[in-house]
Amino acid sequence: MNIHEYQGKEILRQYGVAVSYGKVAFTAEEAVEAAKTLNSKVYVVKAQIHAGGRGKAGGVKIAKSLDEVRTYANELLGKVLVTHQTGPEGKEVKRLLIEEGCDIKKEYYVGVVIDRKTGRVTLMASEEGGTEIEEVAEKTPEKIFKEVVDPAVGLQVFQARRLALNINIPKELVNKAVKFMMGLYQVFIDKDCSIAEINPLVVTGGGDVMALDAKLNFDSNALFRHKDVVALRDLDEEDPKEIQASKFDLNYVALDGNIGCMVNGAGLAMATMDIIKFHGGEPANFLDVGGGATAERVTEAFKLILSDKNVKGVFINIFGGIMKCDVIASGVVEAAKQVQLNIPLVVRLEGTNVDLGKKILKESGLNIVAAGSMADGADKIVSLVK
Ligand code: ADP
Ligand code: MG
Repeated sequence: MNIHEYQGKEILRQYGVAVSYGKVAFTAEEAVEAAKTLNSKVYVVKAQIHAGGRGKAGGVKIAKSLDEVRTYANELLGKVLVTHQTGPEGKEVKRLLIEEGCDIKKEYYVGVVIDRKTGRVTLMASEEGGTEIEEVAEKTPEKIFKEVVDPAVGLQVFQARRLALNINIPKELVNKAVKFMMGLYQVFIDKDCSIAEINPLVVTGGGDVMALDAKLNFDSNALFRHKDVVALRDLDEEDPKEIQASKFDLNYVALDGNIGCMVNGAGLAMATMDIIKFHGGEPANFLDVGGGATAERVTEAFKLILSDKNVKGVFINIFGGIMKCDVIASGVVEAAKQVQLNIPLVVRLEGTNVDLGKKILKESGLNIVAAGSMADGADKIVSLVK
């Protein structure tokens, strides 16, 4: 789960991590009021969306007066911001962060991530801050330094110090940088983050070390023990289809293709997407209806797939182990009754109650293409949508 920059900064502040000071605003009026409370002559108006790259896309504005704050707030609110992380459709700006302008001397990068190779929490830092860290990793990998954390003892002060020295934080500010990194690491651990990224971390003209940006992502599997974090969820930033799916406990991920997939089991769902691609098609979604799905849940799942305007055909691939084929069949028939089904539907059923399932589909009067195997089904749906 993602949160906004201003929310991330609030959490960091609670842990004694230095962040630039600011306030959230939902209207231009609130933006001006927020600016009035700041101890600064220069204000920064920042679009709050769940994506980075806002600076380059015009989502971060420097205002030199309250009038300019109002102008920029009006300009940004309601605007669809397209950054390299939003995709071409962009994201509508509905919230702003009004911040004190910071006297930046130098920008750095600090991130806490889980390194898949070592399976350990790793602190990453670079003196090439403000730019894309992926770009730095590609062009000048020697400028990225890492400290791998031993889970038994946690991040050690000497590691944070070594990292600060490696990225050339001025000597007299190393202690502040160490405090910053220790705090950031603690947030990552306490809140079950999957990533905690500060880009840029800055050294200011006044000799402070602080976060100008904050990106915190949380492990969804741990959210049950972080009610405070769940409360920060912004549904406006999420795909409506995925929100609908989560209401019915369906594991659904929207993709770019045109073949809707309904499958039971995550592994089979992955394999189904692979085989569709292998046959030259593009899956429109990942969907695992789970083992214990009822006919109602299958109905919702089917409606969800069809609510995607890009879907030009549906492939149902069920291996009935715990899931029974007749339950799937009833769900599909019910859903087809509720929505007009006028696109090709290929079904491959195998396993428990398969004959009953096939009978239900056959007697439904629906125009269904039966597939003998997974490969056969993929082949059929790909040629039908072409
Ligand atoms: P994004 O990563 O989405 O582009 P950032 O919050 O990193 O957004 O802002 C982009 C750039 O804008 C920063 O690298 C920094 O140079 C500048 N900036 C951001 N906040 C402030 C601030 N409070 N004062 C001065 N400059 C800022
Ligand atoms: Mg940034």
